[in-house]
Amino acid sequence: MDIDVIEHLAQEIGVRFAGTPAELEAARFIEGQFRALGLETSLECFQFLGWELLDPPELSITAPFVAPVPCFALVYAPGTPPAGLDLPVRRIGRTALLKGLECNKHALIDPKTGVQRAHIITRLQGPGAAMTLLEPARAVPAVLVGGEEAQALERWVDDYPVLRARLTLRATRRPDATSCNVLATRPGRDLNSVVLVAAHHDTQYNAPGAVDNASGVQVALEVARRLSGVRLPRTVQFATFGAEEYMMLGSKHHVQALEETGRLGTIEAVINLDMPACNAPTRVNVTQDGMHLKARVARAFERFGLFDRFGRVDWQTPPWPTSDHAPFVEAGIPAVYISHRGLRYPHLHLPSDKLDKVDREVLRLNVDVVHALVLDLAGSD
Ligand SMILES: [Zn+2]
Repeated sequence: MDIDVIEHLAQEIGVRFAGTPAELEAARFIEGQFRALGLETSLECFQFLGWELLDPPELSITAPFVAPVPCFALVYAPGTPPAGLDLPVRRIGRTALLKGLECNKHALIDPKTGVQRAHIITRLQGPGAAMTLLEPARAVPAVLVGGEEAQALERWVDDYPVLRARLTLRATRRPDATSCNVLATRPGRDLNSVVLVAAHHDTQYNAPGAVDNASGVQVALEVARRLSGVRLPRTVQFATFGAEEYMMLGSKHHVQALEETGRLGTIEAVINLDMPACNAPTRVNVTQDGMHLKARVARAFERFGLFDRFGRVDWQTPPWPTSDHAPFVEAGIPAVYISHRGLRYPHLHLPSDKLDKVDREVLRLNVDVVHALVLDLAGSD
């Protein structure tokens, strides 16, 4: 199938970090695509606390030997003093960078005061990558080290009674950042009964995001195209959210706006697409099983051979908390989240998440599934 939308977003625009002109350009492009299909569109913009990486971080061991350690800055981490911090490293325990992403945590410690001045988080089972810090972890400069480099660092921490490292990080907060959600509506006979197809269009600060998540936007647009000229009882709405990589700020904003205008109750079900383009078993998270969502999803998978294609489907419970269905689930709305490798996608939040990682056959299967699901959900009163 055609991947023109992924090409435009991931290749021509590239990195679409929330709050940047590139993210806004992506939102305007997507809005134009929905409008060209005859949908009613709008941009829903909001302000948020943004963050900007001014220089890539530098981490190196300084004693008892000298060695550079490649690392990634974590979103919302404050910067170090300009000259960096050169301090002893100590392992201080475990931390959940995100739910499902348990890592070891080390600190650069001021030997006089015992104060933790910076954090080095090591991800032993996967590559380093750009990630967003959860609220309580945003007080000191922090970087993520992954894979072999993380394993080496762990060994050095064990082997040397005193290990010193220098970290330099230049980053700043942007309190007046703006991001926009793209909303597109196909009115059905009932305007107060809505099936919502969602994806996010932003990326992490360093990733062109072909799979994560230009692929989800492509599926949403392709489904909208297939629905052209079909009149359905329920209204079908499409939303591509901004600032998902900032812990779902766009979808949180949208749910809040629906609540404030008394429209939240019109949303019957949400289908959230995040990375629907990897050659790996489908990961599905169905929550709030109103609308018989799980049975309907299983029927669509059966019909299009997803069980045969991958040998299995990963049904996940409890609710997966880190994509755009989560704010809807919290508000009590039935939602299904369709993805593939999730955090185990090896190019997640990396510059290598490019066009060549998109599996077109899987992408098309997901278009078939979501199209069938939307017809099923919106096709009956
Ligand atoms: Zn994503």
